[in-house]
Amino acid sequence: MTQRLPRPGPAKRARALELLAALKERYPDAVCELTWTKPHELLVATILSAQSTDVGVNKATPALFKRFPMPSNYARATPSEIEPFVKSLNFWRNKARAVHESMTTVCERFGGEVPRTMEELLTLRGVARKTANVVLGNCFAINEGVVVDTHVGRLAKRFGLTRHDDPVKVERDLMVLIPQEDWCLVSHLLIFHGRRVCKARGGLCADDAICQRWCSQARQSASTRSSPSRPDRSRTKRPAPRGAGKRA
Ligand code: SF4
Repeated sequence: MTQRLPRPGPAKRARALELLAALKERYPDAVCELTWTKPHELLVATILSAQSTDVGVNKATPALFKRFPMPSNYARATPSEIEPFVKSLNFWRNKARAVHESMTTVCERFGGEVPRTMEELLTLRGVARKTANVVLGNCFAINEGVVVDTHVGRLAKRFGLTRHDDPVKVERDLMVLIPQEDWCLVSHLLIFHGRRVCKARGGLCADDAICQRWCSQARQSASTRSSPSRPDRSRTKRPAPRGAGKRA
C-alpha cells in the first residue's frame, strides 16, 4: 500500500488482538475455502470467485483444472474454449477472458510461474489487490495485505475494527491493528465467522459469545430484548367500534 498507515492507540490494538485470539480459538481450521492444489489454480479460482460463491466456483473448477492442467494449456486455448467450463458462474464470458489473458501473461512474462509480488500480480488481467492478497498469502505465505471481501468488510465494521466501507480503507485499518504474520489468517477467520454466524441477511446475534462481546449490533439487540417491550401497534387488536357486530 502506498498510503501511510495510521497508528492505532494501544487500547484499540489490544482489543483487536483479543478478538483475534478468540477467533483463532473458535476457528482453528480456518483456511481458504476455494479448492486448489497449484498456485495458478488458486489464481484462476479467485478470478472466478468475483461476485460468485466459493461453493459455486468449487463445483466448476474440477472439470476446468482437468481440461487445462497448466497455465500453458489456457494460453494455447481461446476464451471461447474456456467458457463452457465457467458458464455456471455469473459474468462467465468476462471471467473466461480474464483467465485466458492472465494465464497467457503468466506464460509470456513470468515463465509459466505465478509471480510472487503484488506489483507483478497486479499486471494480470482480472487481478486486483484482493486476488493478489489471496494468492500471496495462501500460495506463498507472503503477508502483503489483508483480503477484504464482503464478509471481511461487514465483520470488520461490526466488530469495531474499522468505520469504513471502502475495502482499501478497511484493509489499511486491519493492517495497523493485526500483526503482519496474521494478515492472511485474519481474513479467513472473519470469513468463517461471516459464513457460519454473521450472515449478510441477519446473523445469530443473540446466541454467540464472540458476537456478544465484540459486536455493537449484538449489544443493541440484547438491550432491545431486555427492555420492556412496547406494544406492536401494527398487531394490536383495535377495540371494535361501537355497534360493530350488531345486525343492521
Ligand atoms: S452480533 Fe450479529 S451482526 Fe454482530 S457479528 Fe454477530 S451475527 Fe453479526
